[in-house]
Amino acid sequence: MHIYYFNICKRKLWLFSHNLNFEDENIDVKIGKVIEEESYSSQKKNYMIDNINIDYIKKNKTIHEIKKSNSFEEANIMQIKYYLYILKEYGLDDIKGILEYPKLYIRKEVHLDKNDDIIIEKQIDEIYKIINDKKIPNVIDNKICKKCAYYEYCYV
Ligand code: SF4
Repeated sequence: MHIYYFNICKRKLWLFSHNLNFEDENIDVKIGKVIEEESYSSQKKNYMIDNINIDYIKKNKTIHEIKKSNSFEEANIMQIKYYLYILKEYGLDDIKGILEYPKLYIRKEVHLDKNDDIIIEKQIDEIYKIINDKKIPNVIDNKICKKCAYYEYCYV
């Protein structure tokens, strides 16, 4: 979740990592969970490996991540790339990722590209810096804030 939040909003990352979690009460998060639970119901789901929670895994060496919408496509891609990176650390380097948007009937294949290891390691370093900083990052004043679980915390 940290890498996903890092790629959406640094302030959100900081709040989440400081145990300020309003996500469970947020309607968009609830909808996302229902979509995840109801989609591909025949699949065995939620594999915890290290600190990652993979939605489901198929025999043909693919990991699948189910998302409600592709509004945060870059963050979604980085999240699944991070999973592939962790699996590679365990010696599983021939895995591919699939991003699933069941409500949009979209599937997107994701691979770890040549420079992704460097990008991910840089992001991990920055994530540690942000969450260890006593100062909370500023609000981003972006239209995405309106749908964010932290909206009231940040703006009201
Ligand atoms: S409301 Fe906006 S600034 Fe606040 S955490 Fe959410 S996305 Fe970030």
